[in-house]
Amino acid sequence: MTNFDELGLAKTIVASLTQLGYEKPTPIQEKAIPLVLEGRDLIGLAQTGTGKTAAFGLPIIEMLMNNGARAEGRSTRVLILAPTRELVNQIGESLRSFVRKTPLKINQVVGGASIGKQQLQLERGTDILVATPGRLLDLIARNALTLKHVTHLVLDEADQMLDLGFIHDLRKISKMVPPKRQTLLFSATMPKAIADLAASFLNNPVKVEVSPPGKAADKIEQYVHYVTGQNHKTEMLKTSITANPDGQALVFLRTKHGAEKLMKHLEHIGFSVASIHGNKSQGQRERALKAFRDGSIKVLVATDVAARGIDVPGVTHVYNYDLPEVPDAYIHRIGRTARAGRDGIAIAYCGPDEAGLLRDIERLMGIVIEVASGEPPADRGGRPARPARRGGPGGGANRGGQGAPRQGQARSAQRPREDGEGGFDNRPARKDGRKPASGRPQGARRPDQGRGASSGRPAGGQRGPRRSEG
Ligand code: ADP
Ligand code: MG
Repeated sequence: MTNFDELGLAKTIVASLTQLGYEKPTPIQEKAIPLVLEGRDLIGLAQTGTGKTAAFGLPIIEMLMNNGARAEGRSTRVLILAPTRELVNQIGESLRSFVRKTPLKINQVVGGASIGKQQLQLERGTDILVATPGRLLDLIARNALTLKHVTHLVLDEADQMLDLGFIHDLRKISKMVPPKRQTLLFSATMPKAIADLAASFLNNPVKVEVSPPGKAADKIEQYVHYVTGQNHKTEMLKTSITANPDGQALVFLRTKHGAEKLMKHLEHIGFSVASIHGNKSQGQRERALKAFRDGSIKVLVATDVAARGIDVPGVTHVYNYDLPEVPDAYIHRIGRTARAGRDGIAIAYCGPDEAGLLRDIERLMGIVIEVASGEPPADRGGRPARPARRGGPGGGANRGGQGAPRQGQARSAQRPREDGEGGFDNRPARKDGRKPASGRPQGARRPDQGRGASSGRPAGGQRGPRRSEG
């Protein structure tokens, strides 16, 4: 993770942050701050509590200080709009703590407080004004303020502003700010109304999103190679690992015996490799994991049971050397990559007798995995050529279109990954959502168990209805 000073913030600001106990930027801060400093318009999608105030506040403060201009009387350089009094006060307080060592002047205006007092405060000019839309318009109507000098506009909690019926106020305000400005919009959700708002307020915006847990599977590129047999798999694996010397590879096999044999072979020909499976002692597993985590070992060969719940943030490639008998295991396997917001690649080798297993996996996920090489076995021909792509914002082949009804299924199928991402418990949830008891052998589930429960589950608790469907 980066530090605040590496994001391009001045020392005085970083010092204030240290005093506030901000050691590292949150994900939205890490993504947004450099882009805002570049002057980009930005849509930030993030839930409450993710640190949005600093994500827009810090770079704006930095730019105001570098610019050096003085605020003119009855005008403001930055306008931050938020839906409620409480939020305005919170934002104002936070920003004030950031600018302590600077001459910048922050004001807040909200309904329900004396308008005369606020009018007076605006007299001498404001660098950053935090406001609810209604009160702002009242003050403008009284000539207490002009927005002609606004260089930065922030719409915070935009979805809530629309819910509270501020759309007309926002439209009015948008006509009062100069067209040449930087605009940032933050929202927890992205319904169509917000997309429309963004389209009319923002100029070529870049979108940054803090993935809700469980969503990372969208960021995994998945491929399948049809191979002729074991030797073919081994050759392809060696080639791919060699071609990605900076990668961290996790290779899955079905059996302990197979995993050990492959590990020995790779070791013998000079790869830096270890294995974890049921025949290894706890100590051996821990050593292997540690070596893999710190990067001294680049390839870890594992069985499903042994690899459940391991969290290594740097895994770049997951290889399905064998396809799993239980399709859910595929989701757990590939979920070992693309962690903590990174991208990842999942490669599967499908032998002549494994085409049925691949089918099951595709059906469970509601996608078709892109064929990178080889041909499906003759009797299994005729797969639709719809590839599984990265499903980032803007969509990929696995969202929308004819795949839509199956998408909920794919998403709920990916939900078991959530626990691993929360950081508080890396053990995978079972299909019923409960954590497995420690030491209980996992993967002992019958193939037909759980799948129904998994795919029958609503697409996602607090997350489901909030997700944009595009
Ligand atoms: P949001 O607007 O996304 O709901 P806030 O900006 O209000 O989130 O931040 C939530 C809380 O987290 C606040 O108490 C804030 O001081 C704290 N916070 C924000 N960023 C950091 C950070 N990088 N390190 C530590 N605390 C932080
Ligand atoms: Mg906030």
